[in-house]
Amino acid sequence: MKRAYVNPDLCIGCGLCVSTVPEVFRLNAGGISEAYAETPVGAEDKVEEAVNSCPVNAISIIDENVADK
Ligand code: SF4
Repeated sequence: MKRAYVNPDLCIGCGLCVSTVPEVFRLNAGGISEAYAETPVGAEDKVEEAVNSCPVNAISIIDENVADK
């Protein structure tokens, strides 16, 4: 399962990823984006778009099958 990850040290809280894929990203209490859900089936392209659109390249995709090892 793939999951997005936002580097909180890089995110500037512009909200672009949140408006692109609200089912995956949200702004936390500190105004920084977090990926709160796994990427839903069919939303991979939108998450990819969010990754490519982030102005500070704060979003990466983690393959949890690998990350868990
Ligand atoms: S697009 Fe990038 S900088 Fe903007 S809120 Fe999302 S992770 Fe943060």
